[in-house]
Amino acid sequence: ATPTAVMVATGVGATNGVLIKGGDALEKAHKVKYVIFDKTGTLTQGKATVTTAKVFSEMDRGEFLTLVASAEASSEHPLAKAIVGYARHFHFFDESTEDGETNSKESQNSGWLLDTSDFSALPGKGIQCLVNEKLILVGNRKLMSENAITIPDHVEKFVADLEESAKTGVLVAYNGVLVGVMGIADPLKREAIVVVEGLLRMGVTPIMVTGDNWRTARAVAKEVGIEDVRAEVMPAGKADVIRSLQKDGSTVAMVGDGINDSPALAAADVGMAIGAGTDVAIEAADYVLMRNNLEDVITAIDLSRKTLTRIR
Ligand code: ADP
Ligand code: MG
Repeated sequence: ATPTAVMVATGVGATNGVLIKGGDALEKAHKVKYVIFDKTGTLTQGKATVTTAKVFSEMDRGEFLTLVASAEASSEHPLAKAIVGYARHFHFFDESTEDGETNSKESQNSGWLLDTSDFSALPGKGIQCLVNEKLILVGNRKLMSENAITIPDHVEKFVADLEESAKTGVLVAYNGVLVGVMGIADPLKREAIVVVEGLLRMGVTPIMVTGDNWRTARAVAKEVGIEDVRAEVMPAGKADVIRSLQKDGSTVAMVGDGINDSPALAAADVGMAIGAGTDVAIEAADYVLMRNNLEDVITAIDLSRKTLTRIR
């Protein structure tokens, strides 16, 4: 495209909250064949909410929630935030008041949490730390199997049922024993379904990639209308998925919200960071979709197509 065409398109993009990082980015987007969507925070709202907390041990519900929230308090993950928020609500929400006010003085400090040590985040799997000098593990099946935690059949069944309804099952093991499960829902963005339809009409194939489990991933993909799903992908694996699609020379776009997505945004021919994003993601991307609206994926491809056909 001519410098003038690039300037015009960049201006039109900016008006719509689509920041285009240069002429190269603008040119590449017109021939995109695949658009890879991260699931959490990209196709979904990223507003995870706990829908179920089920204890499978002698512990009472309050104890269980305090334990899990204490372990997750050091994590930045959306699932962790949902869990801590739910537990805080459980402890401080006075159900006798109808106005929905929490006991703000207590709920805002973290005095109700237990002390933890040796915290580590295990990307794509969950977290671990010590509480009361005992190891607590919060995460998925992979985390449990790597730590030789047995998942009893009735618990497995419970988790599978959550997953069939598009929820993520978070398993909790304490002192070597599976003690409970949290079910977490994260609804689709409102425009997700029409955007997927729109891409298909444009001859672009949408693909979903996620670190979440296969059953939840398939349920979400079905809701949104995406046929090609890659699940249980570790953070580094997202870039590998892109490279394998690029092998035959196809142009691949990646849309991600940042958390763990930077390597994939960089590997893609066209990286699109959506929403507020993290600084690294914005750095790695060719496009920044500031409105956090998936329709702008189509706007970006359209803009590129129009710019390039106009000058031909
Ligand atoms: P996504 O690719 O969907 O953004 P992630 O790679 O961040 O997902 O996480 C993959 C999976 O690892 C999650 O679905 C969850 O099962 C588990 N996980 C990661 N972080 C946590 C955490 N802090 N607490 C519980 N589970 C976690
Ligand atoms: Mg994510």
